[in-house]
Amino acid sequence: MSQSNWQALEQKLFLRTVNRTPVTLVRGQGAWVWDDQGRQYLDFVGGWAVNSLGHCPPVVVEALVKQAKTLIQTSNQFYTIPQVELAQLLIEHSCLDRVFFCNSGAEANEGAVKLARRYGKLHLNGAYEVITTYNSFHGRTLAMTAATGQRKFQETYLPLPDGFVNVEYDNVEAIKQATNNQTCAVMLEPIQGEGGVNIPGDDYLQEVQNWCRERRILFILDEIQTGIGRTGTLFAYEQYGVEPDIMTLAKGLGSGVPIGAILARENVSVFSPGDHGSTFGGNPLVCAAAYATLRYIIKNEIPKKVKRVGNYFMTRLESLKQKFDSIAEVRGQGLLIALEFNQEIAEPLVLACLGRGLLVNKVKPNALRFMPPLITTEEEVDKATGILEGALGEIRNAK
Ligand SMILES: *Cc1c(COP(=O)(O)O)cnc(C)c1O
Repeated sequence: MSQSNWQALEQKLFLRTVNRTPVTLVRGQGAWVWDDQGRQYLDFVGGWAVNSLGHCPPVVVEALVKQAKTLIQTSNQFYTIPQVELAQLLIEHSCLDRVFFCNSGAEANEGAVKLARRYGKLHLNGAYEVITTYNSFHGRTLAMTAATGQRKFQETYLPLPDGFVNVEYDNVEAIKQATNNQTCAVMLEPIQGEGGVNIPGDDYLQEVQNWCRERRILFILDEIQTGIGRTGTLFAYEQYGVEPDIMTLAKGLGSGVPIGAILARENVSVFSPGDHGSTFGGNPLVCAAAYATLRYIIKNEIPKKVKRVGNYFMTRLESLKQKFDSIAEVRGQGLLIALEFNQEIAEPLVLACLGRGLLVNKVKPNALRFMPPLITTEEEVDKATGILEGALGEIRNAK
């Protein structure tokens, strides 16, 4: 079938939830993908920060094939080995003590909020409110739409579940003012990803943590986008000198298989059997992929490489900023980087980059976001920067 036919069929068959970039991808390897016309692209979208080890990484493919031939799904009525192995690795390398596996980021956050509410019931006189921030992103379920402090996601679905208060990000006073005796937790992304790669001031997370400890409420970090090496350490919290009571993971954890996780401190691990659950959550297949991913990342010190290549990429983008007045700001940490413009040119830039063989993400009408695989090399960064430069020139000349 020709390219236009697949895309025409999609337009006819799907609920309209997304404006897709006009390319049909059929194959991937490392930081590269190919479309159904045989064209090759450097992938700096990375499945939305999911393809941590790139496309079809051999260690993960091998683990998947082996596990698929052995045992795929059992339900959580039974013990299975890949699940326990993955749990062990996560606990050993984080500040947390217990884990629950689910299938996505939104589901991990839902579970985290349920855990916080149960904690509130048992230890905080029934407190249930969770404070979150404007411009955050915590997922698409109804409760996470309420948690996500972005009006554009909320308005269509009112009334939303109760118990969420949205306040300004990077402002500890706003959290203090919103805290009352119904508050059970504060939930934050260490760096806001979907909100545009917004990096807080150096002391913000520590001050929020101190406030939570002082008020004996829970400090929840949503590391769904920032975790698993993305920002240059295995978890972003390590760089801010904080330790959450609950942390959620998903995106990069499984190299592309759907898996999410809730991690919690021992004293916060208040679920009893029956309080929460999942049919697929942590099945042997996805856990084998996530275990292979995480083990590879830890063993090969991938976060260190992310820091190096991320800094290099930022330097290259800064040099583009010298050449193009349209660039307002370069910001990022590790390989989570945004390029902000003083005009709304993200959409035409995505298309101009596509035409030149680079996939990028429009995070705002005036900003691009880069989330390439963690294994991306300096040479690939050079290639991407060259394409961006050409695309920026094309847009400037078209004006
Ligand atoms: C992507 C994302 C989510 C939602 O994850 P899904 O797997 O799409 O449900 C939640 N929080 C953050 C920070 C994210 O980046």
